[in-house]
Amino acid sequence: MIQPERISELNQKPLRENARYVLYWMQQAQRAEWNHALEFAIMQANDLALPLQVSFALTDNYPEASERHYAFMLEGLSETASRLRDRGATFLLETGQPTEVVIRHARQAALVVTDRGGTRVQASWRVGLAKKLDCRLVQVETDVVVPVETAYPKEAYTAAVLRPKITRFLGQFLTPLKPTALHCMAPESSFVLETEHILQSLNIDRAVSRSHHILGGRSAAKQLLDNFIATNLSCYAEQRNDPSTDFASHMSPYLHFGQISPLEIALTVKGSGDNPNVSSYLEELIVRRELSWNFTHYNSNYDTYESLPNWARATLEKHANDPREFLYSQADLEEASTHDPYWNAAQREMMLTGKMHNYMRMYWGKKILEWSASPQEAFHTTLALNNKWCLDGRDPNSFAGVAWCYGKHDRPWGEREIFGSVRYMNAAGLRRKFDMDGYLKRVADLNR
Ligand SMILES: Cc1cc2nc3c(=O)[nH]c(=O)nc-3n(C[C@H](O)[C@H](O)[C@H](O)COP(=O)(O)OP(=O)(O)OC[C@H]3O[C@@H](n4cnc5c(N)ncnc54)[C@H](O)[C@@H]3O)c2cc1C
Repeated sequence: MIQPERISELNQKPLRENARYVLYWMQQAQRAEWNHALEFAIMQANDLALPLQVSFALTDNYPEASERHYAFMLEGLSETASRLRDRGATFLLETGQPTEVVIRHARQAALVVTDRGGTRVQASWRVGLAKKLDCRLVQVETDVVVPVETAYPKEAYTAAVLRPKITRFLGQFLTPLKPTALHCMAPESSFVLETEHILQSLNIDRAVSRSHHILGGRSAAKQLLDNFIATNLSCYAEQRNDPSTDFASHMSPYLHFGQISPLEIALTVKGSGDNPNVSSYLEELIVRRELSWNFTHYNSNYDTYESLPNWARATLEKHANDPREFLYSQADLEEASTHDPYWNAAQREMMLTGKMHNYMRMYWGKKILEWSASPQEAFHTTLALNNKWCLDGRDPNSFAGVAWCYGKHDRPWGEREIFGSVRYMNAAGLRRKFDMDGYLKRVADLNR
């Protein structure tokens, strides 16, 4: 069953008569399993006795995207294309602006179904399409466990506010999604998505090359998840913060590109037992992640310094002229050769792999605040570096994670230089808590 709260009609246009198929415009949820939008499109196709066409519009000017992101996405799409064909749907990928591609592909469609993303550009594509399309457009929300507006009707200022709201809906939304068989199957085809050729043909930023450490696609995600549950979940609550070890699930790049569903991850982890590690993981995956979706949905300034709470901006500005012992520009930081070996290691980890350890991400962002000429410049630099180098960048979690370093979703702490009452972190704290030589070695070994 697909909960009605996931479904919204984005326009009031009629179904097209004498249509040849139902069109699913796949955009955020780039997967053939655990995808409510896909299952909804299949049900519509079955009701209308039509086949299903799935279209993907590949734009080469997605904000802040580089070869690293495109390569990872295409690895995933290649697998998704073949899984969709196994399920009897036709898959078409065309380069171009999404609205234009979808309007072209929809000319013979009874209706268009799409999924939902968490960022402004994704929302604006859907608004534009709803206006221009001459048939019905239905959006199905599938990349969160609890639909954003159902969970809470306004911005939640902290996780403590959102947690009880989300928790009371889990019985309703944390439920399996049964696949529906497509009645009108497309003829079998041997078509293969030539992802390398597509990648080379794109006019994209090639300064950030593909990651040789993280492979895209659902199979890779599933394998990581299975390994995580088998070997790391039992220590997750205690060890997840320790950068010298690697107890995280590494799901974030796959979640970002919709290659795996948060619902599937949550139910798989939940099914492995009922203990503090499972609860701790579900807190991150559901409450923290969906707090980020709440943030980007309700706060139109989510990608700017203006998104910070008043107390944080006031205290940062009060300390804006405090002397800075070290000052680095974005270009300096990308050299990863500051005076701080832990920060440099974190920056290198991100540049090499496309991901950074969660705890180091917090430290890394805090230090940029300490070493920039102004808090506004620091905010901008942190977000730009995160989104440029991370495979999971440009995600609701990116905007919330960076803003957290500057006080978002947090509370005031003791006042000090530069930070004011925004929470401070330092290298001595890292050394006190963790084996930081172990972290330096772990990152140095990535080069080998
Ligand atoms: C400065 C900064 C920048 C960040 N940028 C990003 C980003 O670009 N993309 C991104 O996905 N996350 C970002 N985060 C949040 C967090 O660091 C990552 O989600 C996490 O490290 C991803 O690794 P994992 O999948 O192995 O996590 P796991 O620990 O295995 O957690 C599982 C899932 O829970 C969610 N999760 C875990 N920690 C957090 C958190 N603190 N906030 C929200 N959700 C969380 C993620 O979806 C994650 O995939 C950022 C945090 C900070 C402080």
